[in-house]
Amino acid sequence: MLLRHTNTEVVEREALTINPAKTCQPVGAMYAALGIHGCLPHSHGSQGCCSYHRSTLTRHYKEPVMASTSSFTEGASVFGGQSNLLTAIETIFTVYAPDIIAVHTTCLSETIGDDIVQITAKATGKGLIPPGKYVIHANTPSYVGSHVTGFANMTKSMVTYFAQAVAEKKNKTVNILPGWVEPADMKEIRRLAGEMGVAILMYPDTSGVLDAPQTGRHEFYPRGGATVDQIRASGDSRITLALGPTASTSAAEALDSRCKVPFQTLELPIGLRATDRFINALRKAGKVEVPASINDERGRLVDMISDMQQYFFGKRAALWGDPDQLVSLAEFLHDLDMKPTYIVTGTPGRAFEERIATVLGGRLPEVKVRQGKQADMFLLHQWIKNEKVDLLIGNSYGKYIARDEDIPLVRHGFPILDRVGHQYFPTVGYRGAMRLCEQILNVLMDRQDRDSPEASFELVM
Ligand code: SF4
Repeated sequence: MLLRHTNTEVVEREALTINPAKTCQPVGAMYAALGIHGCLPHSHGSQGCCSYHRSTLTRHYKEPVMASTSSFTEGASVFGGQSNLLTAIETIFTVYAPDIIAVHTTCLSETIGDDIVQITAKATGKGLIPPGKYVIHANTPSYVGSHVTGFANMTKSMVTYFAQAVAEKKNKTVNILPGWVEPADMKEIRRLAGEMGVAILMYPDTSGVLDAPQTGRHEFYPRGGATVDQIRASGDSRITLALGPTASTSAAEALDSRCKVPFQTLELPIGLRATDRFINALRKAGKVEVPASINDERGRLVDMISDMQQYFFGKRAALWGDPDQLVSLAEFLHDLDMKPTYIVTGTPGRAFEERIATVLGGRLPEVKVRQGKQADMFLLHQWIKNEKVDLLIGNSYGKYIARDEDIPLVRHGFPILDRVGHQYFPTVGYRGAMRLCEQILNVLMDRQDRDSPEASFELVM
């Protein structure tokens, strides 16, 4: 009983979060920055922050995540981190030769009030930034927001630093802001667009970076990632599809106001209906027809759902993690005739409850949804103790509840620290939805096998 102190009496809390359903802003800024080719993320704060951000990403992706730090000590904490950052910029370009340094702030540097724009201007004035190289930044104090807002802030910075409207007329390209999804999901989004015959520009793009192949040689900057030229060119595109309102809307808004590229925000294409909407949006944006191959993929998913519906029906599920993932997941479970029962996210913003209500078509009174400070794993555990669920879906932090309450767990979202596969196999698109179905079915049927008496232990299910 690892969580033996969780009691059943739910008390409204103001100031206390216990086992948060989120992690810190710079983790997301670092993840987004890795989606630019040749970029070295830089953590402007203490070494401890940077090592936490790197180790969280490394443990999730099972890849060495490269990043640098301003290495604050007591002096920087009192007098500010300007000299640390100037030294860092000079050292990084000299020793590690990135194309871009993407600086994100931390709780400490934000509390001191370091002005990264001013420090970067000073670095430029001193000639510390070589020609053709860049330093960009995002403000990511972790006492507000979460890793998802950190990702959103860094993505927006890509727009504000690089995007330009150069051509007189917009071209046929469609920008895709993929939101916080796995490298495999980004690859799948690219494949779907290719199958549709739609030319896209996508950033950030961590495919080929955090799922890079083992070649026997260490590549400090793997082949993947969006290039500066691609991000710059997104200012001339016809439209932007912003996937995941929490992670992508602010960048899409910035691109619209800076370069007059209109945008459409969509929920992440996880599950049947969300993928339908994405494919439809791509069809309209690219002015193309949906090819038979995509209709076939959809048909296979529908076939799988119809074949296995009896095992999904009525199963109660508890979900936790990132809001953009949770909204689409809840909709998909609803489509499978399951009952998303408890949903918590520690990430603030973007009308979370309304979005859940919309995708569940008014079934919200049957669902407990919580967002914000008290929306933590402790509260989720209390709810589960009071009324049990059949299935847990979320990141690795749910394994304690799964063990204590003996409930099957499907790992999904970020971070997954104790399993592999999430970075290689997509959950977006119709194929991704089939994988999700498979994962859910496997744990439900394993449970049925385990619990059924010998007389009803079936070979064929
Ligand atoms: S929460 Fe703040 S202090 Fe802690 S690791 Fe994140 S940025 Fe650093």
